[in-house]
Amino acid sequence: MDISIVVPLYNEEESLPELEAWIRRVMEANNFSYEIVMVDDGSTDSSWRIVEELAAKNPCVRGIKFRRNYGKSAGLHTAFEAARGDVVITMDADLQDSPDEIPELYRMIKEDGYDLVSGWKKKRYDPLSKTIPTKFYNATTRWITGIKLHDFNCGLKAYRKQVVKSIEVYGEMHRYIPPLAKWAGFKKIGEKVVQHQARKYGVTKFGLMRFINGPLDLLSVTFVGRFGKRPMHLFGTIGLVMFLVGVFSALYIGLSKLYRLGQGMKTILVTDNPYFYIALTSIVLGTMLFLAGFLAELIARNAPNRNTYLIETTTDDKD
Ligand code: UDP
Ligand code: MG
Repeated sequence: MDISIVVPLYNEEESLPELEAWIRRVMEANNFSYEIVMVDDGSTDSSWRIVEELAAKNPCVRGIKFRRNYGKSAGLHTAFEAARGDVVITMDADLQDSPDEIPELYRMIKEDGYDLVSGWKKKRYDPLSKTIPTKFYNATTRWITGIKLHDFNCGLKAYRKQVVKSIEVYGEMHRYIPPLAKWAGFKKIGEKVVQHQARKYGVTKFGLMRFINGPLDLLSVTFVGRFGKRPMHLFGTIGLVMFLVGVFSALYIGLSKLYRLGQGMKTILVTDNPYFYIALTSIVLGTMLFLAGFLAELIARNAPNRNTYLIETTTDDKD
């Protein structure tokens, strides 16, 4: 199969028939073999009934339904596990992304050899309250991850099949799939300017919380990407620095008191010395950081290893 189109949806009943018809038109015009994986993320409107109707009419439509709303990341993750196409393309259900972009995205993966191609909504049709924070978010993500993309969170993205089978889109990490892919070893990440439209039906599903959750997730994804397999290198380093600061402060207090006593000078109580508190806190914090490091190592050892390291084997059994 050439293409899997993955559509996470939550209360998008009005858009679905139009979206399916549009995708079908593009696929048939280009003679692609395809499937549309629609993940109903616990919609409370009639979205699922419409998915069932579309699946009954078009055998290329596959529906997956969640019992409750788990979020876009969970939808993508489940669809990625189910996807069978050589190229996997994700697309929002709200008709803001255009299916006409699919053939070029497919070509960039197949012929130009990209692992991941992200859409770039150069001209956006969203309210200012969204576009301004988004600029800031993209700049920060570019800076921290070192991936030169203009629009990390575009719903329209194309992936080589191996990419979606190797990464795990957990929590709300759908905003950070390019970093996840990069840290899984897929380096050829490109972008393509795509058409964007104002939302035609329904309302946006992400409110102001995105501006708090987004930065926190960026911290996690960076931490897991860099130190997920060797947490002690982070905790141990900071812990060691703290511990040494503490030990040297303690030595300084002790030795200077002994010196002053030896010289017959006036001395103050150790607990009246500000360095005493610095020493105390640093030693305690340093020890705790080491403890956190050891615990993290134990957890990392037991974490499942998805097929991240593997690229190819000469035998068939990849597991
Ligand atoms: N979505 C989802 N589960 C959620 C929230 C959103 O599957 O909990 C889907 C939604 O139906 C849409 C896509 O994710 O297809 C993007 O959502 P939306 O258009 O509301 O986000 P925005 O374009 O405002 O960033
Ligand atoms: Mg949208």
